[in-house]
Amino acid sequence: MKVLKFGGSSVANAENIQKVAAIVMSNNEQQVVVVSALGGVTDALIKAGTLAEQTDESYKDVLKELEKKHLDAARALLPVTHQSSCLSMIKQQFNELEEICNSVFYLKELSLRTKDRIISFGELLSSKIITAFLQSKHVDVEWLDSRKLIKTNSHFGFAAVNFELTNQLITTTIQALDKNIFLAPGFISSDSNNNTTTLGRGGSDYTAAIYASALNAASLEIWTDVSGMMTADPRWVPNAKPIERISYQEAMELSHFGAKVVYPPTIQPVRQKNIPTWVKNTFAPNDAGTVIDSVATHDGDIVTGISSINAIAVLSLEGSGMIGIPGFSKRLFEALANANINVVLITQSSSEHSICVAVNTSDAIKAKEVVDSTFEIEIAQAKVEPLKVETEHSVIALVGDKMKSHPGISGRMFDALGRNGINVRAIAQGSSERNISAVIAHADIKKAVNVLHEAFFENVYKQLNIFIIGVGNVGGKLLGQILQQQTFLQEHLNLQVRVTGIANSRKMLFADNGHDIDLKQWKEELNEQGEPMQLTKFVDTIIQKNFRNSVLVDVTANEDVAKVYEQLLSKAVSVVACNKIAASAPYTHYSELKSLAKEYNALFLFETNVGAGLPVIGTLNDLRRSGDVVTKIQAVLSGTLNFVFNNYDATRPFAEVVKQAQDEGYTEPDPRLDLGGTDVMRKILILAREAGEILEMEDITNNGFLPKECFEGSVDDFYKAMLKHEDHFKKLYNEAAAKNCKLKFVAEFMNAPESKSANVGLKHIPADSDFYHLYGKDNIVLFYTQRYPEQPLVVKGAGAGADVTASGVFADIIRVARV
Ligand code: ADP
Ligand code: ASP
Ligand code: MG
Repeated sequence: MKVLKFGGSSVANAENIQKVAAIVMSNNEQQVVVVSALGGVTDALIKAGTLAEQTDESYKDVLKELEKKHLDAARALLPVTHQSSCLSMIKQQFNELEEICNSVFYLKELSLRTKDRIISFGELLSSKIITAFLQSKHVDVEWLDSRKLIKTNSHFGFAAVNFELTNQLITTTIQALDKNIFLAPGFISSDSNNNTTTLGRGGSDYTAAIYASALNAASLEIWTDVSGMMTADPRWVPNAKPIERISYQEAMELSHFGAKVVYPPTIQPVRQKNIPTWVKNTFAPNDAGTVIDSVATHDGDIVTGISSINAIAVLSLEGSGMIGIPGFSKRLFEALANANINVVLITQSSSEHSICVAVNTSDAIKAKEVVDSTFEIEIAQAKVEPLKVETEHSVIALVGDKMKSHPGISGRMFDALGRNGINVRAIAQGSSERNISAVIAHADIKKAVNVLHEAFFENVYKQLNIFIIGVGNVGGKLLGQILQQQTFLQEHLNLQVRVTGIANSRKMLFADNGHDIDLKQWKEELNEQGEPMQLTKFVDTIIQKNFRNSVLVDVTANEDVAKVYEQLLSKAVSVVACNKIAASAPYTHYSELKSLAKEYNALFLFETNVGAGLPVIGTLNDLRRSGDVVTKIQAVLSGTLNFVFNNYDATRPFAEVVKQAQDEGYTEPDPRLDLGGTDVMRKILILAREAGEILEMEDITNNGFLPKECFEGSVDDFYKAMLKHEDHFKKLYNEAAAKNCKLKFVAEFMNAPESKSANVGLKHIPADSDFYHLYGKDNIVLFYTQRYPEQPLVVKGAGAGADVTASGVFADIIRVARV
């Protein structure tokens, strides 16, 4: 004998019921088949009852629609010759149902007893229609009236089973009927006065377990719409996978903590009889599914599953008057129990002056009432504070038998949550160590489930969600590189880089649930589907999407964009900036960003601020982290100035060379930022800061070479002024050439204890200098340190260009994933 249960979606319509029949008919053993109401019917019946109670006549429409749904199913399933008795059964049931609802309408009252009566029609109808269908296929099937066999107390809506009587009724009934297949409605039962009761929402699973246990079935099969109990709710975690094998206790914990695939009370009866229980997929019957039994040896994963309960309120009872006085918690829990309030989780701080419990939000108001009245006197005496109630929370739980023999699980759990900026409000670990639960804000729950799933199950890959502002030249190259590398990163670094948002100065576009941004045609998508760019909205969206491992990538040179880092870092969103503005802002701001990043476990990276893709800042960081001390940095850091001085030989005007540099894309829109030295000052400032020095732009000496007049007026005026001062530039060149020197714009940072200084300026570079052979857009940085005192550590190579800059940004993005 085995027991099969088919849930609401398995019997949602005629097409699905055909699949159910095929499964039933492929089984040769004696079987009891338990079915739920057609998908959605229980909810609709509750709605009809509630509308009637509110004297809203539209309950009739709801009933009409339901009647049609059942008639349609019967017509589609049964050959015309077999239809009439089934159709009239349906009509008769709906007449009765309508009469009940009419009474509710007139009385304006829907008692729990009447509600149970109303919702029992769902399972009655589905089970009768399916029985008729099987009979029409010449299957010898007997319909069982679960109301007569499963006896309960009179706790309507959530009745408790009288197992002794129930087991006896089931066994004698089945024994008396010589049939191979029995079909029974789930969910419904009756009390000692034969009033219809129900077993709680989702209770058909429980019905099936009750039959299985009474009959000592060889197995119970719960057929649903997913291929087993999964490592997390598949609607939230796309990478959730079916659990092959799970113990009764684990299944109980998981279902109790929200994995609605199995109704929690279901496990107890099958566990007592040691009946192996399968969770299988009606729509993929060949998938292995999950087996729940007493053998808890599932290989590999230490954590078996993750689940969550929503709509949780956190109640905190606090007060100095509680310390050392026994009995406070007893009174608290008694008050809650007397009010029938179920406590989901409890924690008490070791200082004993606060107890925190989690309850369902629907109980929160009542809880406040009863607790405040219980402690009325203490509250009046200010020994205890009025109960604090915070709603909008959720509980997330890790479940696994093997967790107790593995130290460090909770460490990993809270580390992963913390790294994603998820604040943990309360923690509880069951003494069985089979469950670690945390209360967190509801807004974070989806992210939290994914974060933990990634931390405990996805050795396969980690997902980075990146939002790029500035998809112009460099940003565009970056998208191209990401597209090209995606497969490699997934295969070699277990990293999935997902571009979840892009924006330029005009438009912005976000990936939506079902739709990722297509990196092959992001330009078209941005143009066609993008909405107008609004920076605040872009930032709000990043925060509101609340994706795990989120990164803002700033590929602009925009001041306003640089201002949003603070807000994002404090939401644990990492920032990768190509934009130099933030790192070269006043020191307090720079250090504020660094400490925010630290506080919220995010990263603030800006390698491309100096030398584009060259590993300049990374090298400097490595030197410092390994205990070296930088004594001097000398560098040529401007691709623009190199280009200009490599091409200027006093034979054609300096202005013309600058123009060429601008035309070829080597300069800022206003070339004076480069030629005046500001850009280089920012870079040496950033290097000095990364070397540990507290430095401001004003502290850097700029030995500029542009005549003063060049800084006046527009860019056009600048070109004119340069022409006017051509002699000045010629002189600079000739003086250097006379000494066989080249001109280079050099930045220096001296870090001697007695003299700390930074300067930038034009220098004569002799042929034996490291700086002499510097061509094209090359940059060079010399690090003199305690470990490299005479011969410096040199970083040299192309220090400008969209491709190398993009690859530097990309490397920073990957750094975020690797921490
Ligand atoms: P049925 O109607 O068959 O009783 P339910 O809707 O009650 O089905 O339960 C199945 C659903 O449970 C799945 O479709 C899935 O969305 C949800 N679910 C939540 N957590 C889990 C989990 N850990 N494993 C599998 N399914 C889960
Ligand atoms: N039909 C009932 C419900 O929706 C019972 C079940 O489906 O398990 O809650
Ligand atoms: Mg269910």
